[in-house]
Amino acid sequence: MSTEETLSATATSELNSALDLLSTRIDGEVILPADDGYDTARRVIEASFDCRPAVIVRPANAGDVVTAVNFTRELGLEIAVRSGGHSPAGFGTVDNGIVIDFSLMKAIAFDEETGTVRIEPGCTWGEVSAALQPYGLAVSSGDFGSVGVGGLTTGGGIGWMVRKVGLASDHLLAADIVLADGSVVRASAEENTDLFWAIRGGGGNFGIVVSFLFRPHAAGMVTGGAIIYDANDLPALVRGFADYAPTAPDELTVMVNVMHAPPLPFLPPERYGSLIVLVAVCYAGDPVSAEAALAPLRSLATPIVDIVSPMPYPAMFAMTDHALPEGAYIKIRSCFLDAVDDDLIGTVADHTARLSSPLSLVQLRAFGGELSRKPADFTAFSHRDKPYLIEIVSIWMNPAESDVHSAFTDDFWREIAPRASGVYVGFLGEEGEERKRSAYSDSTYARLAEIKAVYDPENLFRLNHNVEPSAGS
Ligand SMILES: Cc1cc2nc3c(=O)[nH]c(=O)nc-3n(C[C@H](O)[C@H](O)[C@H](O)COP(=O)(O)OP(=O)(O)OC[C@H]3O[C@@H](n4cnc5c(N)ncnc54)[C@H](O)[C@@H]3O)c2cc1C
Repeated sequence: MSTEETLSATATSELNSALDLLSTRIDGEVILPADDGYDTARRVIEASFDCRPAVIVRPANAGDVVTAVNFTRELGLEIAVRSGGHSPAGFGTVDNGIVIDFSLMKAIAFDEETGTVRIEPGCTWGEVSAALQPYGLAVSSGDFGSVGVGGLTTGGGIGWMVRKVGLASDHLLAADIVLADGSVVRASAEENTDLFWAIRGGGGNFGIVVSFLFRPHAAGMVTGGAIIYDANDLPALVRGFADYAPTAPDELTVMVNVMHAPPLPFLPPERYGSLIVLVAVCYAGDPVSAEAALAPLRSLATPIVDIVSPMPYPAMFAMTDHALPEGAYIKIRSCFLDAVDDDLIGTVADHTARLSSPLSLVQLRAFGGELSRKPADFTAFSHRDKPYLIEIVSIWMNPAESDVHSAFTDDFWREIAPRASGVYVGFLGEEGEERKRSAYSDSTYARLAEIKAVYDPENLFRLNHNVEPSAGS
């Protein structure tokens, strides 16, 4: 055995002993590479992040998280934090490091007296919406029920009611956080206010949230669903959407998806696989006013089918339940836009006409409303003033096709990138320093770096869109 081999064997045997010790100190689960279930437990939503962690810890309580953080720091391992596992950058897993997987911490406790809800970080937004529905309440979250509370909240959280109530994180009242030194602190408008500001948009840079306290808003029934058009009408539809959606009544949030028609029962079978423009809507107000608010969208062209109707808010997630098959490969490129001009519409029409995979899509979202009314520095989410967001979402199942779909995405993105006016951190892959910085204004980034230096000076929590601790602090 060479000296290097001897050192490496010693390190491996020390790590294994430490992992054995860790297993005895955790109330939840510790899953090691040799364990049954390791291969399932190491999976995240996106199949290309096929990492092999040294250990997966599933905490049962905040104490387990403290133990895991102290252990990680002492052994110098990389640490990945996983809530719903949707990170497009693959930050929910890591090779040879430790994954803190919150899938056992799923408590949701609504307090009728205070009107607040305490949510553990392993919950998905689908689970939260179902738990709050009996009270006629919700926290506006994303379009997929499987996205995790941990990642979406710390990134900001752009949801179905973003125009009416702002971001998911705008409804956060407090969070209990395990810091890099193993201490547990509360961040709120009264305690550790700088940390409270930072975790609402600054991602997982500052610590691990073990409990979120939200004030949900009214959202029993909404008028929601989709108006589906033939893609021949794409230019008129996107133009009409862009002119109307950012100034529509706040109750109305609209997303346009250009995609291949899935084989769903409400579509004529001869349309399956053809290119469609699916205008997804959520009107969070009374159904009579919804009709007037939706009329400008309905008059843009003749729909193939219109399946907008009153529904309980959790039913909104049914639209995306089957959009992301298990084991899918995904590549996302996205940005905020200041304008949607005819040239952009032409680019979208041109590229969507030749989407490289039947599962891929392009999505346009519109903002304004309550999101844009809060001050720019209300939280660490920097882009409240942006009227639009575009997302190229390539999805495929066969890894042998990855080069084709990746090249298609890059080619399309080259046309869009010059128009980018910042990026939403939740949709960002590992796309380099410049893109990461464009998630934040200069002043927000500088403030995040200062707060990082206070709460995580050694950058233990670096597997995220990393804000390096500011040297000056
Ligand atoms: C299919 C799809 C649809 C999406 N739709 C929307 C949408 O409509 N609106 C929207 O806003 N976003 C949306 N997103 C983006 C999503 O919000 C972010 O990717 C988010 O980070 C995913 O959260 P997660 O908990 O599922 O992911 P994870 O991979 O589990 O976590 C992502 C990162 O969040 C941080 N994090 C997670 N849990 C904690 C915690 N407890 N404490 C501290 N940090 C934590 C960590 O840095 C972690 O690496 C979507 C993403 C996908 C893939």
